[in-house]
Order: sequence, then structure tokens, then C-alpha cells
Amino acid sequence: MKKLYYFILILLLAACGRSGGSTQPARGVERQANYAKNGPRFKMLLLYDDTAELAHVQFAHQAIQFFNKLTVGEGFIVDSTQTLDSFSLEQLQQYTVLVALNASPSRASRQLFEQYMENGGGWLGFHAAGYNDRSTEWPWFNKFLGAGVFKANNWPPQPALVELDRCDHPVTKNLPASYVAPASEFYQWAEEPRQNPDVEVLMTLSAKNYPIGLKDIIYGGDFPVVWTNRNYRMLYINMGHGDEQFTDATEKLLFVNALRWIVSRDPAGNPFDK
Ligand code: ZN
Repeated sequence: MKKLYYFILILLLAACGRSGGSTQPARGVERQANYAKNGPRFKMLLLYDDTAELAHVQFAHQAIQFFNKLTVGEGFIVDSTQTLDSFSLEQLQQYTVLVALNASPSRASRQLFEQYMENGGGWLGFHAAGYNDRSTEWPWFNKFLGAGVFKANNWPPQPALVELDRCDHPVTKNLPASYVAPASEFYQWAEEPRQNPDVEVLMTLSAKNYPIGLKDIIYGGDFPVVWTNRNYRMLYINMGHGDEQFTDATEKLLFVNALRWIVSRDPAGNPFDK
């Protein structure tokens, strides 16, 4: 009889533990993670353009999914927009980083973007976000990007061997010294970024790829693919064409490293130190 009493008591306690309603874990349970403990650390804004070339739209939508996935537990906030035209500077400055997925600011918001960047704003730009040619007529952007205008591309998109210029940089942390990046269209630039004293190149498309392309072929030349302009809190990543970027662990690590580096240098303080 006594045994039955204890058995019923244990059942009741177990049932209470499950239905509880309390936020406290049951005794003996160790909580493995509490993502939301400190609330969102920062806000990021994704800029994209659904009217762009299909492959650039594919990339943007996969990137939106990718960055949203990183917010599990409200670690940070992701907003997205297809235009900055309605933003005030104050509204844009709420964001620690503007991630340009496949678009640069419209003519109407160029000045806003310049003010944002000149006053400590953060920019992580992928592939088409850096694209500009002689018709763009935005000298500030050329200076900002540090690479002048578009010169050439490989076509079709294909995997390519890339090599790190810096292994000890936060953006390249834990990446192999060289690896085959997933299929992408790579842009070569009229002014070699490496010749620009303000630019620090972190990754280069290996000369071993030459000739690269089947229709549009690049036969040689210096080919940086990831770099920063030291005068700004910015990083350009040439990858970002098509739908193969987010299935590759190395590439995804590069993107996380890049985001973390830009965000960590927020002039208002490193959000990761909070
Ligand atoms: Zn492209």
C-alpha cells in the first residue's frame, strides 16, 4: 500500500513538472542555452531588389532566409527593404549594418547612404551590390568601393579556386588557405583594388583558374574577390550570384565571419561585448 502511495505521488509530481507553467526548469534539469537572455544585440537591414537579374534575386532570397536563421532566440534583429528612399538618416542609423544583397542605393538615396557611411555606418556588400559601370556616375561610390568600375566577368557562373591573402583576419578566421568557392559569377574591376592604398585584400581568385569562363572568358590579371576599404566600416564579397552560396559550409562561415566583423566595429561599442 505504501509503495502504491509513493508511486502515485511520483506520477503527480512528474505531471506537475510537465504542465508547470513556470519558466523555471525542473529540478535536476540543466538549461543548455538561453538565447534571449540579453535580448537582441543589434539590428541589421537587408537591402535587395526583386527586379534584378533572376540569379541575383535567387541569391537575395536565400540570403534573407540565411540571415533570419541566424537570429534564432532573438540574438539580433533582421529587417529588409527594397529601397532606402523613405529612410531618414536617423532611421538608417538604427542599424549597425546595412547588408546589400544584390542592390546599391538608388539615385534618390545616394546622399543618405554617403552620410550613413561617412558617419560610422556599416556595409556588407555582396556581388551585384558593388556593380557599377561608366553609366552609374557615382564617383563617391567608386572611392568607397576602392575598385573603380566593372571591367569583366566569367560566364557562365562556375566554382573557382580562391586563396586567402590574410589567414589571421577575423573575416577569414578558420577558413582554409585556399578552397573551391561554389558556382558564382566573379567580377573583375577596372582599377585593381590591391593597388589602392586604402584597400586591404583578404581573398583572391587564384590565377590557377585561368582561363575562367566558357562564354565570357577572363584570361588573366589580378582578381581580388573579398576586400575592405580601411576608411569605412565596409566589406565587399564578390560571391553572390545564383542559388549555390548557402549550401557550402566554408562559404557560410565566410559570411558569418564577415557579418560579425562589421558589426563588432560599431563605433557605439561592440555589441558582442554587451
Ligand atoms: Zn551576377
